[in-house]
Amino acid sequence: MTQTAATIDSSVEAETPLGFGDHCDSCGAQAYVRVTLPSGALLFCAHHADKHRESLADTALVWHDETHRLRDVADAS
Ligand SMILES: [Zn+2]
Repeated sequence: MTQTAATIDSSVEAETPLGFGDHCDSCGAQAYVRVTLPSGALLFCAHHADKHRESLADTALVWHDETHRLRDVADAS
């Protein structure tokens, strides 16, 4: 049962929602995607997530994508 703690810890990290304090590492816009790499995490806006998706797909451990929130906002307005 000692494996439980490590499993919970990493899933919390992966599922932490992105907020207004999170900005794209490429352009500084609101971040909607967090890519967890072996070397650390990168934050991207929807535009740069799309741009880097192919080059990072092989190395990314977690691709946390909240770009659906952009579409939700667009639908509501
Ligand atoms: Zn960007």
